[in-house]
Amino acid sequence: MKYSTSFAKTTKIAPHDADSANARFLVQAGFINQLMAGVYTFLPLGIRVLDKIKNIVREEMNALGSQEVYMPTLHPKEHYLKTGRWDVIDVLFKLEGAGGKEYALGSTHEEIVTPLVQQYVKSYKDLPVSVYQIQDKFRNEPRAKSGLLRGREFSMKDMYSFHLTEEDFEAYYEKAKQAYLNVFHRCGIDAIITEASGGVFSKYSHEFQTPTECGEDLIYVCNTCQYAQNREITELKDGDKCPKCEGTIKETKTIEVGNIFPLKTKFSESFGFTVAGEEGKQVPVLMGCYGIGPSRVMGSIVEVHHDERGMIWPKSVAPFQVHLVSLNAKDQTIQEKVIDVAEGFYQDFVKAGVEVLWDDRVETSPGEKFADADLIGIPLRLVVSEKTLAEEAIEWKLRTEKEFRLVPLQDIMEQVETFVSE
Ligand code: ATP
Ligand code: MG
Repeated sequence: MKYSTSFAKTTKIAPHDADSANARFLVQAGFINQLMAGVYTFLPLGIRVLDKIKNIVREEMNALGSQEVYMPTLHPKEHYLKTGRWDVIDVLFKLEGAGGKEYALGSTHEEIVTPLVQQYVKSYKDLPVSVYQIQDKFRNEPRAKSGLLRGREFSMKDMYSFHLTEEDFEAYYEKAKQAYLNVFHRCGIDAIITEASGGVFSKYSHEFQTPTECGEDLIYVCNTCQYAQNREITELKDGDKCPKCEGTIKETKTIEVGNIFPLKTKFSESFGFTVAGEEGKQVPVLMGCYGIGPSRVMGSIVEVHHDERGMIWPKSVAPFQVHLVSLNAKDQTIQEKVIDVAEGFYQDFVKAGVEVLWDDRVETSPGEKFADADLIGIPLRLVVSEKTLAEEAIEWKLRTEKEFRLVPLQDIMEQVETFVSE
């Protein structure tokens, strides 16, 4: 993409209510735009990051054998009356349609997925089944805050699995834990598996908690084996000996990036979802549910990876791999040469499938271009200027490093291709 053509540019002014690094940098860099508290538009740079996170999630869920679906957001009240949750889910957005008919906006999809799968699964031979979707969820959060971390409309991947036996469920639940760890690792953040209560769903659950100063959760985690419990269930204190090993428990601020729950037969019983078991007897289906918030993950990545100048994207989720910057020269002939060389590389990168953002603006000073590159946080910055061309080279600088080096023009293509494939 040529930056001159991008309609959403960087801005020097931080949003007045920016209470976190992700709220400030994502808005300033033109990745997201706030419509109202907790509700954001994803701009061209932002949607590229969000889509990459969603695709990582998608790949890992597909590898688990789960099948992607896309369920409606508009839900009929009747399904919630069956599960008794119409007045229990405190964050449920409720609306009234024509003829006084009542609806909810999806905050989670057990009420929809259970009767859906029930229509197709008749016998134990049809189990296990797992389905997932990636969709916006709506929650009337009392306090939307911290940019993408707590929204009222936000992206969620929710997966639901259906099993005949407890053993089969347990085995899948353990595999899902590993898939979740893979997702967060590939997104460049740590996630500590944390024992937690099940909330409105079940007795216990497992949260995936990423340590960050602006996190709203407190967990108690062992500095040796990473055994962890959430504040709400735990009797552990800072400095305690770990119940699982010789390590010491540390109180740590975190943000919950994922959560998986055994649902047992809570929802299958509400809908009368039974299957004919091996002996022909009808038995209720066992369920599990598994959530990840891709938009919250995006905000969390920024919380973990930034400095005072801006964001520092891991390659796997960066909007572009290369930020090509051409600097203006006073001399017209040299200026044309600079643009020529930059344009040549830009075209070659595009042809080679290297994702490149070219800051081709002509009215903008070098200082502003460098500040924008730091703010946007693309992993590799390449600068073409009168000075670098005098050396028949391009300036090569990683966002994670302070120093740059000069790379000869004829070596650029090969080195860039190696860099993006590493
Ligand atoms: P929290 O305790 O932070 O309110 P939750 O436990 O209610 O979250 P779940 O129902 O477990 O959330 O949702 C699954 C995942 O969806 C969470 O782990 C998180 O990644 C994401 N998520 C939940 N609520 C929000 C929100 N308001 N904004 C952005 N992402 C969210
Ligand atoms: Mg949760």
